[in-house]
Amino acid sequence: MSDHYVKVKVQLEQMKSSGEVVEKEEADIIEDEVPVASPPASVSPIPASGTPVAQRETSKTSVTCRNRSKSRSKLGKDEKNTCAKQESDPALQGTIVASNANSGKPMNRIDNDRQMLQIKGTGKILQGKTEANGNTVPIQPPKDIKVSPHNKEDANKVAKRRKPVTVDTLKAKTSLEALKLSIRQLKWKEFPMGRRSACDIYWHGVSFHDNDNIISGQVNKFPGMIEMLRKINLTRAVRTMQELFPEEYNFYPRSWILPEEYQLFSAQISLAKDSDASLKPTFIIKPDGGSQGDGIYLIRDPSDLRVIAGSHTKQSVVQEYIHKPLLIDKLKFDIRLYVLVKSLEPLEIYIAKEGLSRFCTEPYQEPSQKNLSHVFMHLTNYSLNVQSGNFVHSDSLSSGSKRTFSSVLYRLASKGVDIKKVWSDIISLVIKTVIALVPELKVYYQADIPSGKPGPTCFQILGFDILLMKNLKPVLLEVNANPSMRIEHEQEVSPGVFEYVTSPVDEEVKVGVIRDTLRLMDPAQKKSPTSYPEHQQEEMLGSPVRGPGEEGRVLPSMCLKQVFPKYTKQFSYLRTVERITALFLRFLGVKGNMRLGPTGFRTFIRNCKLSNSHFSMATVDILYIDITRRWAGMLPDSREAGMGLQAFVEAFFYLAQRRFKSLPLREQVVSLLEVCEAQLDNQGKGDLGGALPEDSTSSTRRSVSCSRTQPGRSHHPHHTSTSTPGQALSAPQLCSPATPRRASSQDYRLHQRLRPTHKGNVEN
Ligand code: ADP
Repeated sequence: MSDHYVKVKVQLEQMKSSGEVVEKEEADIIEDEVPVASPPASVSPIPASGTPVAQRETSKTSVTCRNRSKSRSKLGKDEKNTCAKQESDPALQGTIVASNANSGKPMNRIDNDRQMLQIKGTGKILQGKTEANGNTVPIQPPKDIKVSPHNKEDANKVAKRRKPVTVDTLKAKTSLEALKLSIRQLKWKEFPMGRRSACDIYWHGVSFHDNDNIISGQVNKFPGMIEMLRKINLTRAVRTMQELFPEEYNFYPRSWILPEEYQLFSAQISLAKDSDASLKPTFIIKPDGGSQGDGIYLIRDPSDLRVIAGSHTKQSVVQEYIHKPLLIDKLKFDIRLYVLVKSLEPLEIYIAKEGLSRFCTEPYQEPSQKNLSHVFMHLTNYSLNVQSGNFVHSDSLSSGSKRTFSSVLYRLASKGVDIKKVWSDIISLVIKTVIALVPELKVYYQADIPSGKPGPTCFQILGFDILLMKNLKPVLLEVNANPSMRIEHEQEVSPGVFEYVTSPVDEEVKVGVIRDTLRLMDPAQKKSPTSYPEHQQEEMLGSPVRGPGEEGRVLPSMCLKQVFPKYTKQFSYLRTVERITALFLRFLGVKGNMRLGPTGFRTFIRNCKLSNSHFSMATVDILYIDITRRWAGMLPDSREAGMGLQAFVEAFFYLAQRRFKSLPLREQVVSLLEVCEAQLDNQGKGDLGGALPEDSTSSTRRSVSCSRTQPGRSHHPHHTSTSTPGQALSAPQLCSPATPRRASSQDYRLHQRLRPTHKGNVEN
């Protein structure tokens, strides 16, 4: 057992005996309100048995009733068939959501009159009272919120004047029910059959392209999000960030892409095992486009893969298996959190305060050859576990196989866990993951919606799946581009007869997320997203519902909480790849293109003055051909020829390494960026379409050119540049430099990872 595990064990022992907060490993970087919910009044805050006694009548709102065969149909299949990466999450039965004084409440819930919960580790007291409409609102607003009567009056007047916002729901698919409820609550206008004239908002069930030819308004999907969140692409995006910021991105388990990296995977594992005979890692294989646990299996050694998959290993990701997850009631569980990416430029991210926790149905044991195939022990997917005889459909929020996340936090808090730190780590994981995705999303965005041409803007709700390790560190499992927003589920009411029943937990969590997303996307709010302090935004968004005769009805407080740009200071230095992307976009040329041609690459080298007698244009061409060809082999499906963003980033890293040999990679890259940006700035070419990430001083949308970047700017606080503009690169090696670079950085990380005394990606 490593020192680290001993430390964690000791911490847990301390927690058990004294109820003290777990010792912190890192300083908190985020001070955020923790979305903890107290259980219903009749539930003991710390149940002796671990299972609350209060039960509540299941809501059985029959939506449709039909006779059908007994065989289980997978809900959400329609979506799954039409896109590569889908998640279907049929609802649980009859669980109710935590009554959280600080979170949004649906309008039809009756709650306890008053709740008060003292949380160990936060010292916070959450209080709530019930309004006539059943909404729980904080008794005292947070101290920074000042409710101005004038603003409310103004909002009322504006509400009378405004036309209702229009929403096209024709393509909403399985999110339709939750969407309808949200639109009704907001008193907006739904167009279920579409509309000849433009709508303000288009709600798509699958992808940006569900409805083509939209030239205005807002669409609830980003182009390219499905592609980016396939397991391989997510892994690549995070891996690039791990190369630059290994410590910051150690929340993603070490992964290899199959089949192309099988040899590497195999070699690295045997190397690690040779250097430490006690090492007994487990790996999880996930098919690239899979969902709901389909096709997933565990192995103990790379050679097992050959036995199971033969020589035709499908495109998949093999990942180190987190073998010490945090358990509750001896069961493994994961967390589903809803995250809204409101805009890419400027980057705006919101997190839902309430999420779901999905439990396994067989007590957890660390992986062994005997239990590797026990899916109910190792996989937390609802769609799998619901098929187990042990699945508990509970009416309580804090028991059963699917619970609210806030009830889990409450449970942890009651045991002395520092849930404030857990929540802060989760926020940090979410922001970093989105930052890793943004560069490629910007390329898709510009290809589909070129700046300067009419087109809609986009936003998207993502489903983050997170595992808490035994040491309470959150680990990213995957991100769903289309998290299920279904609120009804099938229930067999008599043999062979199924009803669609609305699930209270799903209704509460998902309707809240959709309704508040719509509120944030209200065209009337659009002008003001970040220009107002957060408390004012809350106030504005809590403005009376508009619509005929409905003035003055106040919506629940927002369940979505802004985390970016709120925490820009802590995270903006991570946006280095976005700066490289700005260069890429600038030289991409033809609108609608996603690949850089050889001429574009040459122009980039020339304009940034990166060539000279030691680094001729002929060697530039070799570099281009070499890297582009190798990436074409790795992306066999790609239809377009040329250099994609990932290949360009690799070329950029290579150029940076050649030029600034003595520095760490991160500083090499930032130094080269400064050289390029300074050169382009000097040329004063103006805006050619590339968009640098906005920094704290700039919030211009979709048209910030690289030339506006300050030369010498470094996002990283510790960065010191040694570059001099115009300094030449030395000649590249003839074979591609990038493979050895990646391989060596992987070797290094593996070594770090698999030695138990070292800190790795994830301390397993
Ligand atoms: P899918 O899209 O098929 O649901 P996931 O990546 O979410 O694929 O994995 C399915 C389940 O497997 C997760 O919900 C989790 O319980 C488990 N799992 C996935 N990756 C890991 C890992 N690296 N370590 C431990 N458990 C994992």
